[in-house]
Amino acid sequence: MSGIVVAKFGGSLLRDGGGYITLAGEVEKLLSGGRRVTVTVSAMKGVTDELIEIVEKPVGWEPRLKRIMERYYSAARAAVTSEREATSLLGELSRLFDELFKLVWAVKVIGEVTPHARAAIVSFGERLSAAVAAATLRSQGIEAVWLDGREAGIVAEGDPWEATVDYKLSERLVRSKLLPLLEHRVVPVVTGFVAGTREGRTVLLGRGGSDYTATLLARFLGAEEVILYTDVPGVMSADPRRIPEARVIPRLSIAEAMELALLGAKRMHPKTFEPILDVDVTVRITMPGAEEATVVTREGGPPPLKAVVATEGLAVVTVTGGGLVGRIGVASKVTGIAAVNGVNILAIMQPITETRISLVVRRDDAERLARALEEGLRGLISGVDVSEASAVSVVGDGLRESRVAGHLVERAAALGGVESILWAPGSPILMALVRPGEEWETARLLHAEVLERWGTGSP
Ligand code: ADP
Ligand code: ASP
Ligand code: MG
Repeated sequence: MSGIVVAKFGGSLLRDGGGYITLAGEVEKLLSGGRRVTVTVSAMKGVTDELIEIVEKPVGWEPRLKRIMERYYSAARAAVTSEREATSLLGELSRLFDELFKLVWAVKVIGEVTPHARAAIVSFGERLSAAVAAATLRSQGIEAVWLDGREAGIVAEGDPWEATVDYKLSERLVRSKLLPLLEHRVVPVVTGFVAGTREGRTVLLGRGGSDYTATLLARFLGAEEVILYTDVPGVMSADPRRIPEARVIPRLSIAEAMELALLGAKRMHPKTFEPILDVDVTVRITMPGAEEATVVTREGGPPPLKAVVATEGLAVVTVTGGGLVGRIGVASKVTGIAAVNGVNILAIMQPITETRISLVVRRDDAERLARALEEGLRGLISGVDVSEASAVSVVGDGLRESRVAGHLVERAAALGGVESILWAPGSPILMALVRPGEEWETARLLHAEVLERWGTGSP
C-alpha cells in the first residue's frame, strides 16, 4: 500500500483540548491529500514526569493522580464535540484511571516498585492520550481506533524502562495489525513510548520514546513519510530557549540527524533515526500551521554546518602511567572495563605518546568508572583523574572536509576556555570540551560563527 504517513504528536502540543483539536485538523489535511495515516501520540505535556514522581515519592499520590485525571477529562470535554463519542470516551477514561489507581495503590501498599510495575504505570500517560486523540478524530467524522504499542505489535525485551525492540517479530505483527485498518481507511492511533514483551508485559522505549515509535512504525509499514509535530517549527541551529538567534534548519542528512539526536537536540530520542537508516523514508519535523520545517533525507543539503549543541553534566576520566606506553591492547582494556560496568563512552582521546588515555563520559558514571579502572589496571597505571566538563558540539556533513573542520578548529581554539577539541577525519561532528558553566558562552560564539560564515541553507 503506498502513500502511508506516520504522524507523531509530541506532548509539547498536547497541553489541553486545543492540542487534540489541532491534531485532528492536521490528520484531516493529510487524509484529504489521499494519504493513509497512522497517528502516534505522547502523553499530555508534563504527565510522564508527574507519573514518575508519583511512583517514586509516596506523599500525596491520590490528589496528584486526580489532578492528572482532571487534565485528561477537561481535554476530552473540550476536544470531543459529539455527545455520543464524549460519553463513551469518559467511560473509557474512567476505566483506565481505575486501573491506574489500583496499580499505584498496590505499589504504595507493598512499599516498593518493580521495574515492570513502574513501566506499566508510566505507560498510562500515553494510553489516556491515545484514547482522547481517537475520540477527537471520530467526533470529527474520521474513523479511528486506538491501540497501545503492545497491541499494535511492537515487541521489545530487556530493561522495561528502555527495552530493545525485536525488529523482525515487530514488523510481522505491526503489519498484520495495522495494514488491515489502513486498507479500510481507519486511522490507527498508537501510543508512543510503549511496547510489550513476547509474554505481553508492558515495557517502555526510553524517555522521548514516541519519536522512536513513529520511525519504527514507518519502517514496519513501509511508509513514505514520518511527520514529527512539535512546538517549534523544526530542528533549530541551537536550543532556541538559550540562543534566541537560532533558526530552523531546512534540510538534514540522516547522518547529521543521528548525531543531533544522540546529542539530545530537540530532545529527540537517541534512536529516532535508527529504524530508517536502510529504508527510504523522509522525516519532517514541524509545528502545525508553520510554513517552515526540517526535512531529513539520505542526501541532506546545504549549508555545510547545521547546528551547535551544548551538553552539560559530562566528565573526563583520564588514566596515566608509563605502563601504557607501547603496550598493545591497553585502549581495548580501558574501553572493556567501561563496557562491563555499563558506562557509555562519548569520546576517547589518546596522544601518540600513549602516556594517557582520556574518556568522555556522563558525570553520573565517572566515579564508578574511575574506581573500576583503578581496580582493573592496577600495576599498569599510576593514577586515574576525574575532571568535570561540558561539551559544545558542532554538527554538519561539511566537517567531513578538512578545510571546513580546520577553520572551525582554529576558531574554537581561539575562543579561550576550550580545553580540548575532538574531531576525526570523515566525521560530521566536532566537539569542544569546556569547563562546566562555560558551555553556553562557547555555544553562542560558535553558533554566531557558524551562522555568519556558513548561513542556514534557507533559500
Ligand atoms: P515533543 O513533546 O514535541 O517531543 P520536546 O519537548 O521533546 O517536544 O522537544 C521540543 C523542545 O526542544 C522545543 O520546545 C525546544 O525548546 C527544545 N529544543 C532544544 N534544542 C532544540 C533544537 N536544537 N531545535 C529545536 N528545539 C530544541
Ligand atoms: N511521554 C514520554 C516522555 O515524556 C515519551 C515522549 O514524550 O516521547 O518521555
Ligand atoms: Mg519529545
